[in-house]
Amino acid sequence: MPKPIRISAKNLGAVAMPGFCPRCFWIQMHAEGLPYQIFPGIFSSIDAYGKRLVHGWFDRHQSAPPWLAGLGDIKGYRSPPHHTKFSIVDRETGIVLRGTPDGILVMRNDSHVIIDYKTAKFTAHQDELFPMYEAQLNAYAVIGEQCGFSPVSALALVYTEPVTDDAAAAKDGNLTDGGFMMEFSTHILPVDLMPKTISKLLAKVREIYDRKRPPKSREGCKDCFLLKNLAEVAGG
Ligand code: SF4
Repeated sequence: MPKPIRISAKNLGAVAMPGFCPRCFWIQMHAEGLPYQIFPGIFSSIDAYGKRLVHGWFDRHQSAPPWLAGLGDIKGYRSPPHHTKFSIVDRETGIVLRGTPDGILVMRNDSHVIIDYKTAKFTAHQDELFPMYEAQLNAYAVIGEQCGFSPVSALALVYTEPVTDDAAAAKDGNLTDGGFMMEFSTHILPVDLMPKTISKLLAKVREIYDRKRPPKSREGCKDCFLLKNLAEVAGG
């Protein structure tokens, strides 16, 4: 019986990155937390705000915000479940795959479109993290199909990009008595639905995880060299 593993859709996405390092992944999966894990909370706040804006608009107007029109005929939304409810066990590998998508839209034909918000500059397919996002959304599609959101008909990234040019800064309306406002422009990037890619990624996770020792360092990785130096200096 293989040892149970739990992995989030986001961490599974990391396995699809071109520069993926099996050693880093092995350490991360086996260690109980890693040092220096600081992520600026402001991005999560902006993504959460976007979610609240969209749901609020649906509730007040019974229609999608105009900037989501590119996704098709949307009739509503469903609140994304907590990751404990949006979770499956892969039969082949015994891996628990879970996560919480940012948004689940319901189309006129009752299919579902899963979206994820990204606060970043929009550069179609130039985003170096795209392979990770693509796998993450496809993992949500696989989970959604088995957790009451079938059929999943499409996936998309919704980029929210701050508008910070001179014209925006010159608008009097952007200054308030208590501070200032910042506009965000949105861009939709459709992501191909490729649920079959997920089983390959899960098989890779199982294979790396089950190794008795961590895989070798990635060729030429400066960080591993610095880490080794650090350990020597500290007498490790
Ligand atoms: S080679 Fe680089 S990426 Fe891999 S474990 Fe070492 S520091 Fe991490």
